[in-house]
Amino acid sequence: QNTIDKIAAGEVVERPSSVVKELVENAIDAGATAVTVEITDGGKKLIRITDNGAGIEADQIPLAFLRHATSKIEKVEDLEQIASLGFRGEALSSIAAVSQVELITKTPSAVSGSRYIIEGGVEHSLEELGAPEGTTFLVRNLFYNTPARSKFLKSDMTEANYIHTLMEQLALSHPEISFKYIQNRQVKLHSAGNYSVKDVIYSVYGRDITKALLDAEFENDFMKITGFVGKPEIARGNRSFENYYINGRYVKNNIITKAIENAYKGFLMQHKFPFVSLQMQMEGNDLDVNVHPAKREVRFAREQEVYEAVYDTVRRALTGKEMIPKVS
Ligand code: ADP
Ligand code: MG
Repeated sequence: QNTIDKIAAGEVVERPSSVVKELVENAIDAGATAVTVEITDGGKKLIRITDNGAGIEADQIPLAFLRHATSKIEKVEDLEQIASLGFRGEALSSIAAVSQVELITKTPSAVSGSRYIIEGGVEHSLEELGAPEGTTFLVRNLFYNTPARSKFLKSDMTEANYIHTLMEQLALSHPEISFKYIQNRQVKLHSAGNYSVKDVIYSVYGRDITKALLDAEFENDFMKITGFVGKPEIARGNRSFENYYINGRYVKNNIITKAIENAYKGFLMQHKFPFVSLQMQMEGNDLDVNVHPAKREVRFAREQEVYEAVYDTVRRALTGKEMIPKVS
């Protein structure tokens, strides 16, 4: 069991930012409206994640750390949808297999909270404890028992930057949640959680970017897109400004990237890449499920329609005119 978990952990937990991603996604799934992430030393020493979500019942805690013991499958009738959203039930077991985890949690109905300690996949204790409603995970000394793996980690600064970028993406994809990110005791990001994407863009990118945005909107029977595209003058020399989200997840996809960049043709010089922040909604069964859930890549059943929708959205925002899209 423990060895299998350690091996499985390699799939899910590659670096500190993977721990943050999985635990924040759990907090979001638990209905949290505020999530605080605090790290020291690039997340190698300590990652602390606090949410105000539903909490975990005391008797459910050990189960949550078993592989494939997800509570989510029963809530989603469509198996394909489960796979596409990454409801796999292996994050907690994987993280606990390669670190020292302390969990403090309380549900609204419970009289007291619980504290659970599991290290290297071995349970140490489960006790009652006064605690606020919600959940706090402390993940200490990631890969302490898999030294080969820890050698692949980069410098504290680089690992911290991965987490910082991830937190920005999470904040941008969930404007309804207030995110706070603290790196070595310094607050690096604090979003309001007031549903305004523009306010999050302001928190993440600052005033000059926020002032140079054009509204983007699209809707047909297949997908809905809202968001912002940047004026050409705020373009960058790399693609880090091209961000889009599908059903609340930050994703990567070549078709969408191509549609965005083609829509900017004639507006940008070569080797310049635009600012876009697009929130897309579509039916789960139009998303291809045969992609690793821990990865950002997605594919579509109806690629051409996705291309045209994105191209049209961006082009109209830029030009104010209807355009006929074409694939190149
Ligand atoms: P999955 O998210 O795929 O269900 P995980 O291993 O990530 O699997 O989590 C296992 C279970 O632990 C979840 O299904 C959920 O019931 C519970 N859980 C984990 N994190 C939280 C949290 N922050 N708040 C409430 N419940 C949580
Ligand atoms: Mg999870």
